[in-house]
Amino acid sequence: MPAPAPRIVVIGAGIGGLTAAALLAHRGYRVKVYDQAIVPGGCASTFKRRGFTFDVGATQVAGLEPGGIHHRIFHELGLELPEARPCDPACAVFLPGEAEPIRVWRDPAAWQRERDRQFPGSQPFWNLLAKLFEVSWNFQGRDPVLPPRSPWDLGQLLQALRPETLLTLPYSLATVGDALRLFDLGQDRRLRTFLDMQLKLYSQVTAEDTALLYAATALAVSQAPQGLFHLEGSMQVLSDRLHQALQRDGGELHMGHRAIAIHSHRGRPQAVTLRHNKTGQTFQEPADHVVANVTAQDIAQLIDAPALAHPRVQGYRSHRGPAPGLRGLCDLFGR
Ligand SMILES: Cc1cc2nc3c(=O)[nH]c(=O)nc-3n(C[C@H](O)[C@H](O)[C@H](O)COP(=O)(O)OP(=O)(O)OC[C@H]3O[C@@H](n4cnc5c(N)ncnc54)[C@H](O)[C@@H]3O)c2cc1C
Repeated sequence: MPAPAPRIVVIGAGIGGLTAAALLAHRGYRVKVYDQAIVPGGCASTFKRRGFTFDVGATQVAGLEPGGIHHRIFHELGLELPEARPCDPACAVFLPGEAEPIRVWRDPAAWQRERDRQFPGSQPFWNLLAKLFEVSWNFQGRDPVLPPRSPWDLGQLLQALRPETLLTLPYSLATVGDALRLFDLGQDRRLRTFLDMQLKLYSQVTAEDTALLYAATALAVSQAPQGLFHLEGSMQVLSDRLHQALQRDGGELHMGHRAIAIHSHRGRPQAVTLRHNKTGQTFQEPADHVVANVTAQDIAQLIDAPALAHPRVQGYRSHRGPAPGLRGLCDLFGR
């Protein structure tokens, strides 16, 4: 008789947790998802008031185009992509004291004309960003694992590398502030304010502190052939479809349950203690693997003392530090 499939507990039914859960269930794992909230979707869920639907957080989706991340995931799950309208412009940015917005057009040529008009002399800066985006987008599309922590990870990373990837190396530690200075644009107040306003949306920090390679991607995904989209029927559609796939493949979603501890033995997870929000009842859910799609700080609260001492967790903590707002999708000691 074949061994039963491993049991996976996923903590958090945001887009990250639901995506992991749906993919794992589709590949035959026994998956249970727990979330403390009432509706799935986390920061990409919605609520209704007086007949109107409000997104709680995310409003625009990237990655719906062929080859984009949601496109690939929905294809793998055999799901139809939700109906969506491209956002054009993706954004209209009003600089302080200005009445006419800077429109981030979807058409690359129109966006270039807008930039030339709004920020004369900045084209070399945008050209660098475009080159870095092209190379790192290709690299990301080949599914590297970073940082590699096992021979399999290393294999994935090596097969994703190409000679062109080396172009990004000199910029791997640079920030957008460094790139502005490189092109003598450090004092361009309008450009800097525009970049600060855009990047605070994506990285929560200003141009001075945003990693250049990340910014190159974040600032370019608004243009075709990528693009930002509004989903018909609100952001909730994305979570609902992932939930449907999870159920279809035998997985379970339990809302209204807070995970309060992950128990491990010799570096491997054993169970998760959960508390039912309404009844206050606690119980243990056995697990062979745990995917904790919550903030890094929350993970540190959830794992027990032996697990905290695990080299992988120590490495993660020292690498990431205590920065607020960090989000980690961590397969805890799973492999
Ligand atoms: C205001 C705002 C606007 C945004 N706009 C955009 C946008 O337009 N486009 C875009 O792409 N992104 C946007 N984002 C970012 C995007 O919403 C998030 O990156 C994404 O939704 C995060 O998904 P996640 O699954 O990683 O985490 P979350 O959505 O945070 O999900 C984590 C889940 O874990 C649950 N949880 C936490 N702790 C526990 C516990 N102990 N036990 C049980 N459950 C627990 C929470 O209830 C939550 O449901 C925005 C974010 C915000 C806040």
